[in-house]
Amino acid sequence: MSPIIKILNVKKFYKLSRALNGVTLTMNEGEEYLIRGASGSGKSTLLYLLGGLDRPTEGEVIVNQKNLVELSDEELAVYRNRYIGFVFQFHFLLPSMNCLNNLLLPARLAGFSKEETENVTTRVLGLASTLSVTHCLEKFPFELSGGEQQRINIIRALSLKPKLLLCDEPTGNLDSENSKKVIQLLRTLAKEFHSTLVVVTHDPIIAESFHNQFLLKDGILVST
Ligand code: ADP
Ligand code: MG
Repeated sequence: MSPIIKILNVKKFYKLSRALNGVTLTMNEGEEYLIRGASGSGKSTLLYLLGGLDRPTEGEVIVNQKNLVELSDEELAVYRNRYIGFVFQFHFLLPSMNCLNNLLLPARLAGFSKEETENVTTRVLGLASTLSVTHCLEKFPFELSGGEQQRINIIRALSLKPKLLLCDEPTGNLDSENSKKVIQLLRTLAKEFHSTLVVVTHDPIIAESFHNQFLLKDGILVST
């Protein structure tokens, strides 16, 4: 297995806190990883750096042999669009578009050809059927239940077959039964799309089932 992610001595400082204080780790392509740690330990910060949503104060973030630190803002936007699928605790579906248009937005932003867009549409419709949300496609996000919104969000994250599927507390607002289902779903889909899966959680029950774990404490990796 070759490393797809190399984080080298990464620091991220804010005015009042050292969110990450020298983190070094590698992750292999196609595997599943869990990042755990108490609230405020730097989990989200680490995930945002991996996803190109933010930049480190110091250190290197190398994904697929690209050093994200060297990319311009425009190049980072392309990186996020083409390489990354994000699943957050809350859903960032655009309220002014129906769900199908939300799902096709990444393909539109990517400037895909008609043929490529048709492939994405086929994939998205297939996933909607697998995840039992076909009936939601013509609806607007506010017309959906929380669980339905979350499944639409997961489909959007996977719509362009991302190299990395980054999930920040994806089960944060679910009961334990539904949490297990969502984690299982993320794992199954990540395998199907050959995506490297990174899940952030502070939920010990979810953490139990992951073989590869990183534990953060006050911005430092304390065990793997
Ligand atoms: P976690 O996801 O593990 O709860 P975070 O990565 O969100 O932790 O935060 C780590 C630390 O960095 C916390 O002390 C938090 O207050 C601080 N922090 C995170 N984001 C910002 C920000 N945008 N501005 C200032 N401080 C921040
Ligand atoms: Mg967080």
